Amino acid sequence: MEILIVGLMGYLLYQYSNSTLSSKYSPLSLFQINQNNEIKLAQVNSRLAAKIRQIIALANQEGYLLYIDEAYRTQAVQQEYYARGRTTPGDIITNTLNSKHTQGKAVDLMPVINGIPTNNLAAFDWQLIGKWARQVGGLTWGGNWKSLKDYRHLELP
Ligand SMILES: [Zn+2]
Repeated sequence: MEILIVGLMGYLLYQYSNSTLSSKYSPLSLFQINQNNEIKLAQVNSRLAAKIRQIIALANQEGYLLYIDEAYRTQAVQQEYYARGRTTPGDIITNTLNSKHTQGKAVDLMPVINGIPTNNLAAFDWQLIGKWARQVGGLTWGGNWKSLKDYRHLELP
């Protein structure tokens, strides 16, 4: 029980300190990576969760660690993202108010490099996310989108 509460507190702190898309992460232990991934997978559609676990396993086999950045997202947060670059400062980061994230049907994956989950385009071959998704099947990859490509993003069609 104590472990559960400590884990939950850590998660809440973590969520609080990483509530934006361009968040900067501190180095995470393997335990934290696995724990945070599982907490996020528990909040999404179970079919999606199973597919993401397969992708994480495929990545591990090829020597990569994957971290789930965002999974389930509230509509309020989606509205905040949609406003960015339109009615609030920043670049446009989304084209939709109807994200699969708000239905628990999307997950954003990031590679962990030196213990730190990263969005850096140059630090990782992002085509691998698409490759692993094709291997697992039944997923739409944001790297195939025509505008606002999102290499981290996978969703159920
Ligand atoms: Zn996404």
